[in-house]
Amino acid sequence: MSCLFCRIVAGEIPATKVYEDDTVIAFRDLHPQAPLHVLVVPKVHVSTLNDLEGQHDALVGVMVRRAAEIAKEHGYTERGYRTVFNCNGDAGQTVFHIHLHVLAGRGLAWPPG
Ligand code: 5GP
Ligand code: ZN
Repeated sequence: MSCLFCRIVAGEIPATKVYEDDTVIAFRDLHPQAPLHVLVVPKVHVSTLNDLEGQHDALVGVMVRRAAEIAKEHGYTERGYRTVFNCNGDAGQTVFHIHLHVLAGRGLAWPPG
């Protein structure tokens, strides 16, 4: 298995988990860009947003709702936070297994760089 996030899902590579159920796993980013930087990752492999199909609609909803729940658990509901899916080169996607970034704990510039 060559996909990094599939290997984390399988427990072959360690990660600092903040949440796990049958559908998704969430863990701390190795190179955090904010005081809270968590990745919400589906257990099923989907390479990019371009590969999503109708069968994944509920999964994406689960990921987004989980991101909001993680922000809430860390106290950022009112202050605010950012969620990001990067897709392919111009967006800077480096791991080709979809993941939702959850960033919080500092002012985040807009538009992004
Ligand atoms: P992307 O750039 O694809 O949107 O995000 C990939 C993220 O995965 C990056 O923020 C990067 O720091 C993180 N990352 C890369 N390798 C690892 C790893 O082995 N463990 C963890 N926890 N995060 C990783
Ligand atoms: Zn994968």
